[in-house]
Amino acid sequence: MTADRLALIVPDDWHLHLRDGAMLQAVVGATSAHFGRAAVMPNLSPPLTTLEDLLAYRQRILDAGATFTPLMLLYLTDGCTPATIEACAAHAHVLGVKLYPAHATTGSAHGVTDLGRLDEVFAAMAETGLPLLIHGEVTDPDVDVFDREAVFIDTVLGPLKDKFPTLRTVFEHITTRAAVEFVHSRPDDGTLAATITAHHLFHNRNAMFQGGICPHAFCLPVPKRERDREALCEAATSDDGRFFFGSDSAPHRRDKKESSCGCAGVFSAPTALATVAEVFAAHDALGRLEAFLSTRGADFYRQPHNQARLTLERVAEVAPATVAADGGEVVLFRGGTTLPWRVQRH
Ligand SMILES: [Zn+2]
Repeated sequence: MTADRLALIVPDDWHLHLRDGAMLQAVVGATSAHFGRAAVMPNLSPPLTTLEDLLAYRQRILDAGATFTPLMLLYLTDGCTPATIEACAAHAHVLGVKLYPAHATTGSAHGVTDLGRLDEVFAAMAETGLPLLIHGEVTDPDVDVFDREAVFIDTVLGPLKDKFPTLRTVFEHITTRAAVEFVHSRPDDGTLAATITAHHLFHNRNAMFQGGICPHAFCLPVPKRERDREALCEAATSDDGRFFFGSDSAPHRRDKKESSCGCAGVFSAPTALATVAEVFAAHDALGRLEAFLSTRGADFYRQPHNQARLTLERVAEVAPATVAADGGEVVLFRGGTTLPWRVQRH
């Protein structure tokens, strides 16, 4: 293995939005091409709040041609019960439960309004070992949008972890140095991990304002300062097994992004692996790329490592700009630009 050609265990995407219907059809192939498994987010409209919902959606993903293994997440609402948690925990196709604070991002209008009402649900999750995946932002409109993750740590996540220390928790798509420091501050005992996206490793908040407003760089949580991006890169490229990859690839049609009130979300599934390789190469950390992309997440979720392998080659290639979808098109993250790494699936 040379630094120009890396053979990796096929990666998993531990945070993915596939949508449904025509959009699902359009984007499912991008994940099939590069990933062995994906944790599929349940924020459809209406959200997926029962085991039956999850299994029906899983079947639609397979029917759309997925060749990766979809692992499903229950959308947590105020009405969830311990019985639902127990049913999900007993089912091999269910990976965990997703907590969106109400109105945090696309499709989260049904999210949780009061964590205090869910003590029995969290106790059932701790008991069964079913992980809780958290969109870690407060939704109070009075809190500055760039501070919402840090305030969430202080007011919600820290107290939740103190109350339920054995609840297996994943702090999703972290964006701040504060989030990295929070993970470091807790015991490394398999009860807390964090995912990091390709786009938060690659750019900071300037990307949204480069020469004008750039809606295709807008996502939630919003990218933060350069010092935050640096902290994410340090965590991802470190030997701390609690930080692993989740793309948060989130397709929206171009006209929904280029709008007077554009949607949050970056469609990165086709370009995420090349981007992460580029970031790791820049940090002289290609030796840890496989751990970040392919093994740490599987270990946290108690899944076997994938058997198949793929190769990343240092061969410059121009990424396609868009994919056709749902009567329009979706703009790719870094689409139309030259990426220094190319993915070859065996
Ligand atoms: Zn997401």
